[in-house]
Amino acid sequence: VTDESGLERYDRQMRFAPIGREGQEELRESRVVILGCGALGSGIAQNLARAGIGHLRIVDRDLLEMSNLHRQMLYTEKDVENRSPKAIAAAERLREINSEIEVDPIVTEITPETVLALVADADVVADGTDNMETRFVINDACVKSGVPWVYGGAIAASGMTMTILPGEGPCFRCFIDEIPPAGAVQTCVDSGVINPLTSLVSALESAEVMKILVGAGTPNTQLLRFNVWDGGFHYSHVARRKDCPACGLRRFDYIEGAEWASIRRLGSRQSVQLMLPEEDRRDVADLWESLQGVGKLRYNGHVVCVTTEAGEAVFFDDGRVIVKGTADEQTARDLLTELMAK
Ligand SMILES: [Zn+2]
Repeated sequence: VTDESGLERYDRQMRFAPIGREGQEELRESRVVILGCGALGSGIAQNLARAGIGHLRIVDRDLLEMSNLHRQMLYTEKDVENRSPKAIAAAERLREINSEIEVDPIVTEITPETVLALVADADVVADGTDNMETRFVINDACVKSGVPWVYGGAIAASGMTMTILPGEGPCFRCFIDEIPPAGAVQTCVDSGVINPLTSLVSALESAEVMKILVGAGTPNTQLLRFNVWDGGFHYSHVARRKDCPACGLRRFDYIEGAEWASIRRLGSRQSVQLMLPEEDRRDVADLWESLQGVGKLRYNGHVVCVTTEAGEAVFFDDGRVIVKGTADEQTARDLLTELMAK
C-alpha cells in the first residue's frame, strides 16, 4: 500500500484480512486506556502503539525501580536512574516508536474518585494492574460506563485473561464475587514472575483489544488460564449471574460504597502510600524548593525524591507520597511529619 493516507507502515497488518484497511482506519480513530504500566501495561502499550491505535492513555501511579527491568519491556536503566514515573517514561518511549499516535500519560492512582473520568471516553480498557482491589474498581467503572475491558493477571509462571463486554457477557464480579482477603492471593513479591509469562499475557490482552476495536474475531469472554513453565491452556466457562451485584443488580460497591476505604491500598509490602494533608499540598517544584537542605534531594520535573537516614519519600503532583523501605504506616507517617517540619 502506497498512498497519502499515512498507513503504509501498517502494510503487513492490513494484509491480515480481519483487520484490512478499514480495520486499520478504525484503530487510528480509537482510544484505549491502559490502567497500570508495569509488565503487562508496558507490553500492551508497546503492541498497541506499534499497531497504530490512535489514542493511548497510560495511567500509572509509581516510579521505576531496578527490579522492574527484568519484565517491564519499555524501560531502561536510564529511566530508573532518572526516577521517572512509569507513565512518563512509557510515553517517551512510545512516541519514539510511533510519532503518529497521541499518547497521554497520567501519573495518578486508580481509585473510586479517579477511575470514572479515566475510562469514560475509552473504546476499550486494558488491565495492566497488579492487584485484585484495583480490578474490582475497574470492573465497577467499566460495567457502569458500558466500556469493554480486558482483564489480565500474571504470577510466577501462571497467567489468566478474560474479556468483559458489559451487557453481553459475564463481568469480573460474576467470576469473583468479592475481593479475596489479604494473604489469600499470591503476589509477585511472594512467588516471583518470569518475563515470558508477562509477555504472553500482554500479547493476549493486546489481541483482545484489537478484536474489539475492529469488530472482528471472537473476544474471549471465558476465563483462560495457562502456565508457561508446566504447559497447558484451559478455558473455564464463566456464567453471567443475574444476581451479580455489578452487572446484574447494577450496584457498584467498589466505586460508590464504603468497600474501598476498608481495603488494603498498596500491593507492595516495602512501601506505604500516604496523602499529604490539604494544607501541605503544593506543586512538586515548590516542594522541592522548600525541602532544600533536607537529606538528599532529587527532582526530575515530575516527582521529588527525598532520602534521609530515616528513609526515602517520593512526592507526586497529586498529593500522594510514597514512603519506601517500610511497611508500617506509623513509621511512614513519622518520617513524613519530620520532613514537612523542616
Ligand atoms: Zn457480573
